[in-house]
Amino acid sequence: MFGVRGNDVDAARLTYFGLFALQHRGQESAGIAVSDGDNITVYKDMGLVAQVFDETVLAGLGGDLAIGHTRYSTTGSNRWENSQPVFRHLGSNGIALAHNGNLTNTATLAAEVGPVAATTDSELMTEAIADAMQSGELSLDEALTTVLPRFEGAFTLAVMDSTTLVGVRDPHGFRPLCLGNLGDTWVIASETAALDILGADLVREIEPGEMVIVDDHGPRFVNPFPKSKSSLCIFEFVYFARPDSTLLGRNVHTKRQLMGRLLAEQAPVEADVVVPVPESGIPAAQGFAEVSGVPYSDGLVKNRYVGRTFIQPAQEMRDRGVRMKLNAMPSVIDGKRVVLVDDSIVRGSTTKQLVAMVREAGATEVHLRISSPPYRWPCFYGMDTGDRSTLLAADRSVDEIASHLDVDSVVYLTLENLTRATRSDPDAFCTACLTGAYPTEVPLADSKFLLEQPS
Ligand code: AMP
Repeated sequence: MFGVRGNDVDAARLTYFGLFALQHRGQESAGIAVSDGDNITVYKDMGLVAQVFDETVLAGLGGDLAIGHTRYSTTGSNRWENSQPVFRHLGSNGIALAHNGNLTNTATLAAEVGPVAATTDSELMTEAIADAMQSGELSLDEALTTVLPRFEGAFTLAVMDSTTLVGVRDPHGFRPLCLGNLGDTWVIASETAALDILGADLVREIEPGEMVIVDDHGPRFVNPFPKSKSSLCIFEFVYFARPDSTLLGRNVHTKRQLMGRLLAEQAPVEADVVVPVPESGIPAAQGFAEVSGVPYSDGLVKNRYVGRTFIQPAQEMRDRGVRMKLNAMPSVIDGKRVVLVDDSIVRGSTTKQLVAMVREAGATEVHLRISSPPYRWPCFYGMDTGDRSTLLAADRSVDEIASHLDVDSVVYLTLENLTRATRSDPDAFCTACLTGAYPTEVPLADSKFLLEQPS
């Protein structure tokens, strides 16, 4: 998610580059809404940023103010109607909204907002904001101040009318958002890496519960929510965010290396080679090799032109995706006791196939080391990890996981070591996927695990 407001800038082009840097956050669809000061134009389509936009399209998107989005579907199906930004007409103009996260009170909100053609929580939010602007004759930021407290769950937003850019982080701050500056141009982005690509300076991360409004006078900050405990998704540190981004003031890559170092201290093993699962396992494998003294080698090769297999929603596509993406090298692995390092196991389908590949390449032993704790609980805040029944660790002991994956041993980083590695307050995170302790009420009622209690 990205937004920019400047003077005499090509806002859509800047947004294109911002989205390009944020492609990893969603690969299903991409879109930009741009305003020339009077009218908002939205262009969006299914596909990667570079597939959706070209010179001709960008040339038709003139204006100083824009927001953009790459979609990774968690609710609503994978189709054009659900791509973002969402646009809603309002009088002679309108508002556009881009959303990262998932609401957890969608049903309540839908009942309040009344019948709309929405199939996503993002459209519902847009509708609620537009309603408030219309019925109360409110400006965009006034309407947001009134309406935002009615939303629950994860919602980092970029919203615009024809003249104003607004960035919002929900009171828990599940998803990140930062503010950057380039001369008199102001930028909001899900991750700091998107500022780097533009040469913009990081002003600061937007705080949980904070709203930044950028108009002719530059940015101002408002706190429309009652105070809540901050709960940044720990998986942003583990897997999701780019390694070159900064979260809670810390570089993500070095913290991932530290996770690997702590994992080596926690679970040493006699072995000949440390092999990362590229690319997500690389920094932790580096840290593991450094501390254990076992040599690091790239025994799995990744095809650079295939995206994250996991992000494509259909299971059938995921299964095929692994072979398309990775290949094992016997020259590194044959006859060796291998420590295979990855950041996480979610469904286990990728990992199982990888282990088989490593054995086929001649490994005599495979010891799996995972730089996060077992992923046991579904995410309601924007990670597409599916129902609890699909999670490998939901109901399995570590021994059962080892035999399911056919490894000689598997050790997960403890939660204590994980939060230690982030060098941040352990209470600053949402760890619900690991612990079942959800920071908000969640619609577990919709799931067949309603009666199960977090352990
Ligand atoms: P699997 O063994 O099928 O659960 O896949 C594990 C792989 O998925 C690991 O390499 C992780 O880096 C990656 N992964 C973890 N969480 C996510 C996510 N939310 N989206 C996409 N990939 C993920």
